[in-house]
Amino acid sequence: MIDSLRPFSAAAVPCKICGGAAAPYGVVDFHKSCAEATNGVRLPLSGVPIYYRRCAVCDFLFTDAFDDWSHDQFKAHIYNDDYQTVDPDYRTRRPSENARFVAQLWDAHKAQTRVLDYGGGNDVFCTALRAGGFQAAITYDPMTPEHARRPSGKFELVTCFETLEHLPDPAGGIASILEYAAETGLIFFSTCTPPADFNNYGLHWWYVGPRNGHISIFSRQSLKRAFAVHGYKYVACSDNLHLAFRKLPQFLAHLDTSRLDEPAPAHA
Ligand SMILES: [Zn+2]
Repeated sequence: MIDSLRPFSAAAVPCKICGGAAAPYGVVDFHKSCAEATNGVRLPLSGVPIYYRRCAVCDFLFTDAFDDWSHDQFKAHIYNDDYQTVDPDYRTRRPSENARFVAQLWDAHKAQTRVLDYGGGNDVFCTALRAGGFQAAITYDPMTPEHARRPSGKFELVTCFETLEHLPDPAGGIASILEYAAETGLIFFSTCTPPADFNNYGLHWWYVGPRNGHISIFSRQSLKRAFAVHGYKYVACSDNLHLAFRKLPQFLAHLDTSRLDEPAPAHA
């Protein structure tokens, strides 16, 4: 029994990122999950419709169905024992791959780099970075009791993998992440942005998965906007990996940031 879902309203509501008009865009069953596309797991239909809205200005796609849920309700209905079924890579494979990627990119600077991993859920990623010679690597996840202690100080690198799409208050989440960035700190994060031909798929697109807790789907425009309000530039590295920063650190100062203002096209 799923209760406290916000009832459907045909009226547009303000976009959670830019305040633009976000009218209903489509509907999927609560049990739609990303695993349908990634490993063919299809849960039985729940019979609970989840409506998503899309902002007419920045293309941010979101559902407000869960906006009245408490932390405990998210735990009971989404982040429960069955979560592993719809996101099997969550515990170890994805964080280990992310650690290898970051270790490669930051290899020459790791001894001077303090890393904060925001929203990781477990310490797999940071354990690998500490073992690899980073000055410090700390996991902070307000949703996970063992990592919920607020870290102190600022960090040269703040990572945030597969987290933004889970936030019912994504603007507040980004503000919270940025609190921990040093003046020349880099925010390196992942979340999938819709392809250029998204309208051909609509909510059939694999990443729209209420059962995975994917409730806030960012377009590149909405990411640009969400970081710009804090004075950050946003750069898309790919459809999944992204960078944001105020001022580039010395070792990246050679990058031509004047060309980084505009997000790259979705498909090169
Ligand atoms: Zn918007």
